[in-house]
This record gives sequence, structure tokens and C-alpha cells, in this order.
Amino acid sequence: MVNRRQWLAGSAGAALAAQSGAARSIVIASSNGLRPCAKAMEILRSGGDTLDAVIAGVNIQEEDPDDDSVGYGGLPNEEGVVELDACVMHGPTRRAGSVASLRNIKYPSKVAKTIMEQTDHVMMAGDNALRFAKAFGYKEENLLTEKSRLAWLVWKASLRDARGHSNWSDGLDAPGKPTAWLQRLFPEASPELLAYAWDRAMHPVTGTINCLALNVKGEMSGVTTTSGLSWKIPGRVGDSPIIGAGLYVDQDVGAAGSTGRGEENIRVAGAHTIVENMRHGMAPKDAVLDCLKRVSRNYNRDKSRLTKFDINFYALRKDGVYAGGSLWNGQTRQGKLSPRRFAVNDGGQSRLEDCIYLYERR
Ligand code: ASP
Repeated sequence: MVNRRQWLAGSAGAALAAQSGAARSIVIASSNGLRPCAKAMEILRSGGDTLDAVIAGVNIQEEDPDDDSVGYGGLPNEEGVVELDACVMHGPTRRAGSVASLRNIKYPSKVAKTIMEQTDHVMMAGDNALRFAKAFGYKEENLLTEKSRLAWLVWKASLRDARGHSNWSDGLDAPGKPTAWLQRLFPEASPELLAYAWDRAMHPVTGTINCLALNVKGEMSGVTTTSGLSWKIPGRVGDSPIIGAGLYVDQDVGAAGSTGRGEENIRVAGAHTIVENMRHGMAPKDAVLDCLKRVSRNYNRDKSRLTKFDINFYALRKDGVYAGGSLWNGQTRQGKLSPRRFAVNDGGQSRLEDCIYLYERR
């Protein structure tokens, strides 16, 4: 359901873009993309390439230990290993590159671009992708931070059998409180850090950054990069490195990308669907809503099941009209609803705009 305010906001974006005839640069991204959008815009303004711009933008999140959904500091798989997925598409040359299940390299977006430029392939995965990256000079490093290691151990300890027992504890015969082992392992951990770890263990995060750019020449590119679903089974690949799901760019039409539960996106080939919708005349917001309806259709529109996840799409048309949309109007934590937003930079400061949405949580 799109409310009036959202409709007007979308139309305002469209009107502005139409006035300028897209003779201006625009960068949009998922809600963690405020700094990346600003960085990408800086590069576009200095005449840089659209793909270089979005990659430089998302590198900020990839190297930020506090973004626990991307790159360094991303929450690991169930074995405590960070596994990264990313892909890039360059509109002007119509080329694409992608890497999946990459370990120990901080910048999977750059590796995806290297695959695009230095091989005759589009996608590489796993250990061999790591070997490839090392051959091209990427530095191997541990991507697990103390914070993400703590969250992972708390998650392991939170898994219990039917009697409420966990092997990841002090043992039945241990003196003291059942959480003593955790405090011994992390003596410096503040109550806030322990609370964070507990929250992440209980609510496995999804999170990613998708960033799309259009320059004054009408050229477009996009990137999506992620550590994927936290606590995933090793080897699980989400939508983010899948060309046509996590990202799609067609220089003649526009670009789209996604964050949120990748399993749903893969089944509707979301980014490609949205670009095709725009090709056939839909406005970006309608193209996004149509894609969200396909996600909902896969569950027979049963909201009691749909409520268990969220998924977000971002669309940027070649004329500069854009939209961000989610299945739900927001996320509820401790009884409070935080609305879904996405980041936009059209030349000034980056800002967050409300996503349109299909369903409302109350
Ligand atoms: N789409 C990502 C994945 O499924 C995660 C996310 O964006 O939340 O791997």
C-alpha cells in the first residue's frame, strides 16, 4: 500500500528529475549508504567513471567494522568465518563481474570488478576466487572483529536442545552463572557489547549495500556487496552476487538492486524484473511494487508467513527518476517501528528518503 505522503514524495523526486532532464548526477543506495552516496557523488563530479564511483562508495562500508552486514566486521557463517558476496555492472560497456563465498578479502566489490576486467568470465566462487584475488595482489586478512566473534559465540551458546541444554557453555558441573564462560572469554566486554551480541544472536541480521549511479552523460553503473545472512550454512550464496537478482543495469533503461532476504529475491530475479518493468513503461516505484507483489505471490500473499522477513528494492531510471521500496513499512524492535529508508544524493548532502511499501506492520 502506498500512502499519500509517499506518493507525493515519489512524484516530487520524479518531477525534479524531469525538470533537470537527468542532466545531473544521482546516486542512490540502501539505508547504510549515506557516506557511500556522498563519496560516489564526489567522484562523479570530478568526472570519474560511474562504476569507480559506486565501488569507492561501498568500500567505505566494506572496511567499516561497525557495519556488521558488509565486508570487514560482517557477521560470519555458522562456523565463525566471514563469507562475502558481491557483484558489479558497468552500464557503458555492458559488462558484469561477480564473486561469491569469498573469504578473507576485505573488498569483494573490487574483486568482482577485477573478474569483470581481467578474465573472460563473469562469476567466480569460494577458494578459487580467493586464489584468484591473491594472484591480483589482494591482501588476505581476518575479517572477524572481536565484536563479531563475540556475537557469533553468543549465537552458538543460544542454540539449545529440547531440554534447554547447550554444549557451548561451561558444562553442567561448572560453578557460577551459566554465562561465566562468556565473561571469561571477553573480560573487557561492556554490558552494551554483550547486549548487542545477544540481540544479533536472537535476530540474525540481513544487511548489504546496494549502490546505483547515474552521471550527467546518462551513464549508469551499480554494485551490491554483502557478508550475507548471519550464521548461514557455509557455502550459502544469497542474491547479492547474482546478476539479475542483487543487481541489474541496462544502460538503455536503468538500474536496480536489492537488500534483504536473498532467497526471496533469487526466486523473482528482482533487479532484472524491475529493469524489465521499467523498460515496458512502468515508473520506478510501480516497477518496485510489482516486484514486491511477486515476492508476496510466492507465499500466496499469506501475511502470517511474509511477516517473518523483509526485502528491499532500489530502482534508478535512466532519466534520473528513482524509488526505494520494501515489503513492509518498517521493522519492529522492542515494540518500536523503524521505517524503511534508502539513501539518495543528487548533488548536495546525502539524505534518507522513505521507502514505498506493500504491507503495513502495526
Ligand atoms: N541480500 C543479502 C543476502 O541474502 C542479505 C541482505 O541484504 O540482508 O545475502
